Amino acid sequence: MAAVILALFSATASAQNTSGSFAVGTAKAARGQKAYGAIEVPAGVDAALSIPVVVVNGAKPGPVLAIVSGAHGTEYASIIAVERLISALDPATVSGTVILVPLVNVPSFEQKIAHVNPVDNKSMNRYYPGKMDGTQTERASFLITKQVVEPADHLIDLHGGDLDESLRPYAYWCWLSR
Ligand SMILES: [Zn+2]
Repeated sequence: MAAVILALFSATASAQNTSGSFAVGTAKAARGQKAYGAIEVPAGVDAALSIPVVVVNGAKPGPVLAIVSGAHGTEYASIIAVERLISALDPATVSGTVILVPLVNVPSFEQKIAHVNPVDNKSMNRYYPGKMDGTQTERASFLITKQVVEPADHLIDLHGGDLDESLRPYAYWCWLSR
């Protein structure tokens, strides 16, 4: 399995409301629940996009961790890892909230196109914070910024060796603060 590259960010806001429920896109989880949904990117200068998202809202309050993978939709190792984590996480045993986005770049995955979103030919980890009047990658980046990055206390963006890359010999991670 290819090495996994992590980029860790630190943020401060919270999307938790006073009732303890937590929503990202259409995934709204009461405290102690796991919810499945999507971040719906509306059509603009190009097509709409639906990005799957899962919220694991722990039984006890705590910080918010966001885990994102598949900005490059053919870096399969990290996508599979997040899918497994979604199944493994039991909200009854979690303190805090975990936002999981296993596949940002759905068109890349579906069309088996490395490095870019084939809809607009842009890398989906190069356009943050994004903008709503841009192309699909930019609109998706804007909504992920608002709905995933900003509510998170910590964020892990998972990558891995792409179809034409061999990252077996090394792994690295970096800490970014803002
Ligand atoms: Zn990548």
